[in-house]
Amino acid sequence: MSPLEVPTINPNIDIEKSVGIDLGLKDFLVTGDGLYVPIPQYYRKAQKRLTKEQRKLAHKKNKASKRRAKQVRKVAKLHAKIARQRKEFHHKTAVLLLRKYEVIAHENLNIKGLARTRLAKSVHDAGWGTFITILANKAEKAGCLTIGVNPSGTTQMCSDCDAHVPKTLSDRWHACPDCSLELHRDENSGRNMLKKAEGHPVFKARGVRSTSWTMKREARPLSAG
Ligand SMILES: [Zn+2]
Repeated sequence: MSPLEVPTINPNIDIEKSVGIDLGLKDFLVTGDGLYVPIPQYYRKAQKRLTKEQRKLAHKKNKASKRRAKQVRKVAKLHAKIARQRKEFHHKTAVLLLRKYEVIAHENLNIKGLARTRLAKSVHDAGWGTFITILANKAEKAGCLTIGVNPSGTTQMCSDCDAHVPKTLSDRWHACPDCSLELHRDENSGRNMLKKAEGHPVFKARGVRSTSWTMKREARPLSAG
């Protein structure tokens, strides 16, 4: 690796503007300080339509028919439209986050578990990998920083006292019996992403704990669409 490829940390970066984000299917992302970015309705609608048109195509068995060729074009067009919408949504969301935060911790998608991988291939494929790449590139250009962390345990752990608070997929609320912290499970998870990033040099250099942001609560919800 040449010296030019070594990532340097902007010395003027404001670590008070740090946040952890949780990526999901219900909301596209939730930040540790309570901002919710939902998946846009138009995107969901287009996805549904694509599924319908793909089903129609599957029923047209005669490969030589003109009707089938027409349906193939229709599906391809819809695919392209969805890809365009998703890209636009990803860019908007990244800009929105970087207007507000300078250090963003997120789950490292390369080491995520099987369950999430299967979800990602579902109808509502949200394209987190593409989004994280876009976010990282934009952050670098803006002198900001994204940090990928191992997401294991981020859902179950209490972001305040580290207690293990078991949850099933349907448990949407984090209620800690030890320190009585109560908040949405995705917010708790987002906070844990940031906690996991605490070892990053950007925090060590300043000697400040990244959790100082917990006092700053913001209005919600926040729409990217
Ligand atoms: Zn707790």
